[in-house]
Amino acid sequence: MRRSFRLSVAAALLLPAFAAAQQTDIRVTKVRDHFFLLTGAGGNVAALVFPEGVTLVDSGRTEMSDKLLAAIRTLSPRPIRYIINTSVDADHTGGNEKLGSTGGQITGGNVAGQVADASEGAEIIAHENVLERMTDPGVKPPVPIRMTPGTTYHVSHLKLSTFYHGDGIELFTAPAAHTDGDSLVYFRKNDVLVVGDVFSTTSYPVVDVDRGGSINGVIDALNHILDLAFPDFRLEGGTVIVPGHGRLADSADVAYYRDMVTIVRDRVQDGVKKGQTLEQVKAARPTTEYDGLYAPAGSAYTADMFVEAIYKSLTKNRAPAAKAPAAAPGPAPARRR
Ligand SMILES: [Zn+2]
Repeated sequence: MRRSFRLSVAAALLLPAFAAAQQTDIRVTKVRDHFFLLTGAGGNVAALVFPEGVTLVDSGRTEMSDKLLAAIRTLSPRPIRYIINTSVDADHTGGNEKLGSTGGQITGGNVAGQVADASEGAEIIAHENVLERMTDPGVKPPVPIRMTPGTTYHVSHLKLSTFYHGDGIELFTAPAAHTDGDSLVYFRKNDVLVVGDVFSTTSYPVVDVDRGGSINGVIDALNHILDLAFPDFRLEGGTVIVPGHGRLADSADVAYYRDMVTIVRDRVQDGVKKGQTLEQVKAARPTTEYDGLYAPAGSAYTADMFVEAIYKSLTKNRAPAAKAPAAAPGPAPARRR
């Protein structure tokens, strides 16, 4: 509690933009009878309300925790039991400590009177690379222990039972996509899929190459979303897909987005194959007809940043061009495609 107070004060003093953001109200959108989308706290936050408590996907920015908690309290007075993180990003995990400290796991219910102890509070669940990155010795200042996931998985998926979590919930890893610790979170009975930052209705996908992300991993994740979702008719309706940022979506929205990302990837790849530099690829404006939708003026994540991330991702493991022979003396070697 003391720690999170200090963090939010520091954020308010050092980052006036965030202080301004504190004025923003949290908006609550009903998705299903007991399932809600909360926007305005950073990344989208999903809340499942069930008789024993609340299960959240993501927790917004640290400095928005009080407002987010107040909004959750309008949905249920019960403890926050579980917080599932779709990635390590600060706008998706920032509220872990504050929101988690108000909760408690169902298995800990018989010692609820002692929850002031640091080992109690909501259980935080994520891919194990989220924990690895949060607890990396290079992270300064260190992430408070109560912000870090206590339950992680490293295989392709993790099942959570209906009894404890309010629905049959399945986490699917999206390897090397937005980062190397992304999860797609499917609520089986509610038929809602919360997918984090591999999908946004308001921006290009942020491909965080430095934290293990890749453009091809993002495209694989978008295809995985389409595999998991059940549309009602053709690609419309059915499973509600909650993006990391922006509005509620369905399979058709994801399919259009997947096509856009694939087309831009192919254009950048074409430039890479021709030996073009990053500047030459940028100058060809491979995103041009999509910029009005996904990178309007003033966007934090610009078209150039997206193109640069794709270029970096596609050339990451290539030998430096200078090491290649200037001209092949014999017949060209067979090339694996
Ligand atoms: Zn985000």
